[in-house]
Amino acid sequence: MRIAVAGFADETCTFCLEPTTEERFEPATLRGPSILEENRGIPNYINGFILAAEREGVELVPLVYARKAPGGFQSWLTTSCFDRYANEIASALDSAGHVDGVLLALHGAMAVNGVPRPEAEIVRRARAIVGDDVPIMVTLDLHANEDEQLAQVADGVFVIKTYPHVDTQETGEEAASRLIEAARGEVDPVVECYRPGIVSASIFQATAYHPMKDVLARCGEWREREPGILHLSVAPGYAYADVVDIGMSVWAVTDGDRELAQRAVRDVGEFAWSLRHSFARELPGPSEAVTRVMELVERGEAPVVIADGADRIGDTTHVLAELLKQGAENWAIPGIADPIAAGELETSAKVGDTVTITVGGWYNETSGDPVEVTGRIEFMGRPRYQLVGPMGRGSTVQDGFVARLNLGENRHLVVSDRMRGANDSAGLTSVGIDVDSLDIIVLKDRVHHRAYWDGVVEVDFPINAPGIGYADLRELDYENVPPDTFPINTSG
Ligand SMILES: [Zn+2]
Repeated sequence: MRIAVAGFADETCTFCLEPTTEERFEPATLRGPSILEENRGIPNYINGFILAAEREGVELVPLVYARKAPGGFQSWLTTSCFDRYANEIASALDSAGHVDGVLLALHGAMAVNGVPRPEAEIVRRARAIVGDDVPIMVTLDLHANEDEQLAQVADGVFVIKTYPHVDTQETGEEAASRLIEAARGEVDPVVECYRPGIVSASIFQATAYHPMKDVLARCGEWREREPGILHLSVAPGYAYADVVDIGMSVWAVTDGDRELAQRAVRDVGEFAWSLRHSFARELPGPSEAVTRVMELVERGEAPVVIADGADRIGDTTHVLAELLKQGAENWAIPGIADPIAAGELETSAKVGDTVTITVGGWYNETSGDPVEVTGRIEFMGRPRYQLVGPMGRGSTVQDGFVARLNLGENRHLVVSDRMRGANDSAGLTSVGIDVDSLDIIVLKDRVHHRAYWDGVVEVDFPINAPGIGYADLRELDYENVPPDTFPINTSG
């Protein structure tokens, strides 16, 4: 048996300014055997495909895996960028000869000019090659924005169940196993989708906590009760792609029982709707947040992560300005993205120099003012390091240029040429920061960091700061959101 493997994945922030072109995808795109070679042993969707195929003695036929290179601030994919990879998948399928099934590693939050539902379109183009009798199954991130169109064209839709995303391999393995069973005629999968009408900021979607924990528990009860359910999960969606299918979708795959699939997705969707106000909570702004975090530190409830989830570019200065103004000590910001400031440091300074430089606040009106800092450069370079946390453990990160300034009082600011984070300690230790000495770690992240940092810090402190990815979605100007969508155009 031969199973084709391809992927085309993006989470597109349409509130960013520049369009996404092929140049952003091409450096990270894999073709042919390298898709399997480079992912083998790394806990992700592709390795999950590999594990299932090896267990079942099935040959994988790797075609093309298109994904964006890290960093960068791009918005809508151009139509030609989308066409290039969607068509390349189709033509590679055509050249591959007979296959018994197709596995597509997608994401679900891609936004493309002129293509309203890109993931369904990718499947449609693959379907046009392989025909109706060859099963096509897809994996999705839980930030997927999808609707019934994908359910109509795919034979299986498998959504990860964790945020932080630590079950991508498991979900890939699950999808590949069901695909192999379907190709052997052992199951007859049907897919149903239900959209309750909720859009939520990523920061409210951590699956270990209410409300996502409860929604996923509801899915678990269904799966336990009904053995005919092959898969049941929820994609809460990605709020920062202003697309027609934005928001939560519930997905069921059953063995031939459409009525059961419909009942299950509707029940879970209606249950999620009953919890909708928990998907849109009020969070403190930067000033109040820093005050409260300093009180926590004072009481010994440290270290604390400040999760500034709104910053999708890495340039916002709201928290930095408040830390300086309120006199906080023992903190680190592992990245303020500022290509100009980073370039100046690279060309005209060296380790050991004390410099005064203005950083951040350059992208748009939500960025905050640029902030002037004076500090001693203690690290400069392009660190390359391996992740040590549960997300992507063992995979290599290659940073762009970064410089770490020690501002005194154990305050560390990393100036980077592009968005840079620290979803585990490696992002800090790689630039010489002593993590144990810190009281406050400022991360421009929402939930992924919690896979590692929840086990290290006393408190995770999410805030609602200005930025392209506001936690309060009513701050954003949407154009494509369907009517009666909570909380954007109905207060429910
Ligand atoms: Zn995601």
